[in-house]
Amino acid sequence: MTFTDYLGMVKDAALTTFKGMGITFKVFWKVQSKGDITIQYPETRDHLPLGSRGLLFNDVDDCISCKQCAVVCPVDCIYIEADKKEASSTAEFTKGGVKKTLDLKRFEIDVSLCCYCGLCSSVCPTECLYHTKEYEYSVLDRDKHIMNYMDYKR
Ligand code: SF4
Ligand code: SF4
Repeated sequence: MTFTDYLGMVKDAALTTFKGMGITFKVFWKVQSKGDITIQYPETRDHLPLGSRGLLFNDVDDCISCKQCAVVCPVDCIYIEADKKEASSTAEFTKGGVKKTLDLKRFEIDVSLCCYCGLCSSVCPTECLYHTKEYEYSVLDRDKHIMNYMDYKR
């Protein structure tokens, strides 16, 4: 390598460093001009964007046990059991007036498997299954992530 080659390499290195630092400072000033971007969680909580998907909730009183949610779920984490209603039993309807022909016995979701794709809530005909804004439900025992919505039956 000649001395001229060496000087060329030093020049390239200096130019590249200068260019890289230019980008770094550009981004730095852009961020600075926006003010603080780090929030002091959990004292401060950010606003969740519209349509964000948190913990699922099923208002089981409006569930007609159709199992469409379980069928569409890509990870099979919705567990439903239902029996046919006795012909002699009192007719039950959802808030929207849909007649319940099945007696829901079990509605559980293993939220540790859920990928929050939103498919289940989008196919639910009575809109009783939906994503809440809740995102703080970490547990030490994974079994506690199996949510039993029958507990919320009125
Ligand atoms: S959000 Fe997606 S993965 Fe989660 S329970 Fe619903 S369908 Fe299954
Ligand atoms: S799709 Fe809706 S109504 Fe049907 S079983 Fe699921 S939660 Fe119940």
